Amino acid sequence: MGDKEDVRNRLDIVDFIGQHVVLKPAGRNFKGLCPFHKEKSPSFMVSSERQTFKCFGCGAGGDIFSFYMLHEGLTFPETIKDLAEKAGVELTSFQPTQEFLVKESLLEIHRLAAQFYHYTLTKLAVGKKPLEYLDNRGVTPTQISDMQLGYAPDGWRSLSNFLITKKKYPVEDVEKTGLVIKSAHGWYDRFRGRIMFPLLDTRGNTVGFSGRVLPWTEDETSGKYINSPETELYHKSKLLYPLYHTKEAVRQKNSVVIVEGEFDVLSSLRAGVKNVVAVKGSALTEDQVKLLSRYCNTIILALDADTAGIAAAKRAIGVVQAAEMNIKVVELTEGKDPDELVKSEPKKWRHVVKQAVDIYDFFLNTAQRQHDVTTVDGKQAVAKEFIPLLNQIQNKIIQAHYIKKLAELLGVEAEVVEQEMSRQSKKDIIGRAPRDEATTQSKPVSRLHLLLEELLTLVIHYYLQVNLKVISTEDLPDTAVTKIITRAMAEQPKDIIEFAKGLPPELQQQFDDCFLREPEVYTDKQVTERFEEIISEVAKLTLRDRLSQLRHRLAQVQPDQRGHIEHQINDVLVRFRSYSGHE
Ligand SMILES: [Zn+2]
Repeated sequence: MGDKEDVRNRLDIVDFIGQHVVLKPAGRNFKGLCPFHKEKSPSFMVSSERQTFKCFGCGAGGDIFSFYMLHEGLTFPETIKDLAEKAGVELTSFQPTQEFLVKESLLEIHRLAAQFYHYTLTKLAVGKKPLEYLDNRGVTPTQISDMQLGYAPDGWRSLSNFLITKKKYPVEDVEKTGLVIKSAHGWYDRFRGRIMFPLLDTRGNTVGFSGRVLPWTEDETSGKYINSPETELYHKSKLLYPLYHTKEAVRQKNSVVIVEGEFDVLSSLRAGVKNVVAVKGSALTEDQVKLLSRYCNTIILALDADTAGIAAAKRAIGVVQAAEMNIKVVELTEGKDPDELVKSEPKKWRHVVKQAVDIYDFFLNTAQRQHDVTTVDGKQAVAKEFIPLLNQIQNKIIQAHYIKKLAELLGVEAEVVEQEMSRQSKKDIIGRAPRDEATTQSKPVSRLHLLLEELLTLVIHYYLQVNLKVISTEDLPDTAVTKIITRAMAEQPKDIIEFAKGLPPELQQQFDDCFLREPEVYTDKQVTERFEEIISEVAKLTLRDRLSQLRHRLAQVQPDQRGHIEHQINDVLVRFRSYSGHE
């Protein structure tokens, strides 16, 4: 436990979360937009005094450890290791699991491999030609060092000898990284004669590589690019190159430009467009979009304007919309990719990114270029392509905007487009499974529960104004809130935060839930009134509940035991009436 406390004492949760979420002061706490669910108005609260956070929208909450774990999708050992490093705490009592140690060793091997490739490129004679190649492509020495670009020598056992013979890593471990492949005659390097791009996770660990073949080592059998295989560390669908380096720019711009490959990224960075990542030829996955949604709310696709690029854009709409992000497209009409464009006109790249159009405008523009809308055939073709997209738009205002645009383009009334849309959507619905409504409904929260939380919120935020003595705790239900209030009444603490530190863990949770809640703003008089109002209603609800239980029991017991229960019922009724004066 010592390690955890040490780390917690040295890192401030408001500073830490503030690096990931824009926080604004809200009373004693801070609030911002929740990074764990999509929301338009902030319900994510952070407390400096309690060093906790809580989202009242999705329920996520906890301390700095839970935040980092959730945010980065890590296990606890990984979390404590990272945070201890950030806090400058040396872990002493931490007992890593076997699984954790294996993962650490794989990370270490990747780290060494990246150093090996980088050293080979920048310091050894075999790196001279590859360096020239990079220079010809416009890559600067600063970029080579910032991104730790490397070169995998064109031999069978360069890296494997370094890792296995020299660094003495067990073959089995090295093999697990996918960098070295075992064969009948021993082992050999996966990457040979390639420029190496280290692939980093969002924590800055190298978890894989992408290797680009060089013109003079290229033959028909070698792919232009090869990647690390899927390993424990590397999941292609969850990684974007080089998000670790560009995420700050993405957050600042609140948007990300998506290009195809590594060289497009490097060019874009040189041209000053820094909020950029590469999808590497594949379609944008749900996981990638989810990852990006942590940093920004607009995705700008800058894919080749060929049919493959258009198809990729169409596929992206669904995933991006599901994440409730905006989607725009950079129109690269001259058939150039970002890399080529930057080389000839770096300013133009900045310009076209700024001019990115809404994705539906992009499709309309493309359809218009491809078909002659003055002819019946042309109109039909455009409608056929665009109407299914119109049907997908969830925001009705945006949809209406494009219905009008399409109608204008085709020279018809908007109603005609709408009729065609409904005809097509009916066709689509047939055969589709009905949506499961039950899963979207959340559990109803009882009135009593809400009142109790409001009660504790008032007690915490207006501690000096409320008079706890007016509470008869025996008339409250047996809940965490009641336990906290009972303790406060007994201890009569001077400082409610100090008091909270003495609560057992299961009560701290409830305390924080209410501490992080934003209380209604009241005058002293209003606080007292509201406070007594709640106590009275809570008591009445509790007593009513007790009464119905007693009556139920009365119906079941033998006649000779009835007297006792009737007596209890009477007591409850008296207590109940004592609250009625407040109505
Ligand atoms: Zn949330």
